[in-house]
Amino acid sequence: MSAINLAIVGVGKIVRDQHLPSIAANADFKLVATASRHGTVDGVTAYTSIDDMLDAEPSIDAVSLCMPPQYRYEAAYKALAAGKHVFLEKPPGATLSEVEDLEDLANKQGATLFASWHSRYAAAVEAAKSFLSSTEMKSMHVIWKEDVRHWHPNQEWIWQAGGLGVFDPGINALSIVTHILPKAMFLSAGTLEFPENRDSPIAADLHFRNVDYVPVHAEFDWRQTGKQSWDIIAETAAGQMVLSEGGSKLSVGGELKFSAPEAEYPSLYRRFAELIKAGKSDVDLAPLRHVADAFMLGKRKFVEAFYD
Ligand code: NAP
Repeated sequence: MSAINLAIVGVGKIVRDQHLPSIAANADFKLVATASRHGTVDGVTAYTSIDDMLDAEPSIDAVSLCMPPQYRYEAAYKALAAGKHVFLEKPPGATLSEVEDLEDLANKQGATLFASWHSRYAAAVEAAKSFLSSTEMKSMHVIWKEDVRHWHPNQEWIWQAGGLGVFDPGINALSIVTHILPKAMFLSAGTLEFPENRDSPIAADLHFRNVDYVPVHAEFDWRQTGKQSWDIIAETAAGQMVLSEGGSKLSVGGELKFSAPEAEYPSLYRRFAELIKAGKSDVDLAPLRHVADAFMLGKRKFVEAFYD
């Protein structure tokens, strides 16, 4: 099979940090065009709208949609309607309903839709899943606390409705937890803290349980300065499991069991190529559903205004 002609829509931070090097290193893809109002990539034909790009470049096979989630549905619909395969950055959309509509359209068109969850490809996630399936879990504590000023400078969209606020990183934790837990979990209570001048939360404290009442407590906070925390700790019959550094290191009973260099986006593009070749889609909405549940069931608390 010749290389898949790929286009990127929404050339910004994650495209430069991760998509471009991963695509360049993957022989299954050839980057042939971009569509972005301002962003361009050296040596690649640039358009300022997806409509102009799709009209002018019929040879495009697939598109990666990397703009903020509030603007993804319309672009995804246009691309699928034109028969292109679609890679959705996380979160896959602003609502569950719009992503389900895209899944239906992809099925009708015989096109691949890939709702990507990059943290699921962190190095030690599969090892954690296999460990949890081999023992009995008594409880889980998820701590995802980072400094929004450091990671999201001048990104207004994350504070707007649909931008998810602290759930923008928190959904990465949920994508790992929903992948490694042997049984489904459900939200039972939660509190979301909204800065009084913003439409999205800066912190969330969530209590989940599964059918056996095993508790999963998740704490997301964007006000953490100093050391950043992206840890998942499970108490199990076989000792304490610590999946740390965003899923890249696994320890059990204080002993390091697995650690490998970060390679999430190269893995995502390998998966996208596999799905296209197999004529399949991969759209797991569990992480986004938990966020929607948190907005539905969580108590709302207003806290101090946030300024960049
Ligand atoms: P970003 O740089 O703020 O936005 C990406 C690009 O989207 C912008 O450069 C902009 O390009 C376009 N865009 C912005 N607002 C738009 C609008 N109103 N309508 C249409 N296009 C718009 O964001 P990012 O950090 O790359 O994040 C993009 C997505 O990737 C998010 O869903 C995020 O959760 C996910 N992600 C980000 C990271 C990260 O570390 N940053 C990591 C993993 C996943 P133009 O102005 O050129 O149109």
